[in-house]
Amino acid sequence: MADSATATQPEIRPIVPHLRLGATREEDRLFGNRCTNCNTLYVGPRLYCGKCSSEGPFKEEIFGTDGEVWVWSIIHQATPYVKAPYIAAVVDLPEGVSVNTNIDGIEPEPQNLKFGMKVKMYTEIVSEDKEGNSYVAYRFRPAD
Ligand SMILES: [Zn+2]
Repeated sequence: MADSATATQPEIRPIVPHLRLGATREEDRLFGNRCTNCNTLYVGPRLYCGKCSSEGPFKEEIFGTDGEVWVWSIIHQATPYVKAPYIAAVVDLPEGVSVNTNIDGIEPEPQNLKFGMKVKMYTEIVSEDKEGNSYVAYRFRPAD
């Protein structure tokens, strides 16, 4: 039996450190950090700048939901708990960074994909742990 004095409420958590959750899934956003010394922008949190080797300081930047497929691949062989085939891709963001992601909303067939195709980011709860915490992942789908 759970002790109500020490039991914690299940949380909704981002599955990756570069996803910032909003009050609703529509408000979830990817974010990055910009080195204020050399202006280089990175996806997610950052301790040191890989370009100028400084410790920043870093300024957080929230990204929009637009993206463009830079490169993609259809994965047919996945780990046992992942449904295949699926589309793995690197998506360029207009802010000047790229993210690894999956493309959803279309059948994973080569004729459905184009380099440079416009995509939109969205999030959804993808798993839950034994304590009842939910995990939110981001994906992209065709923009139109
Ligand atoms: Zn720097």
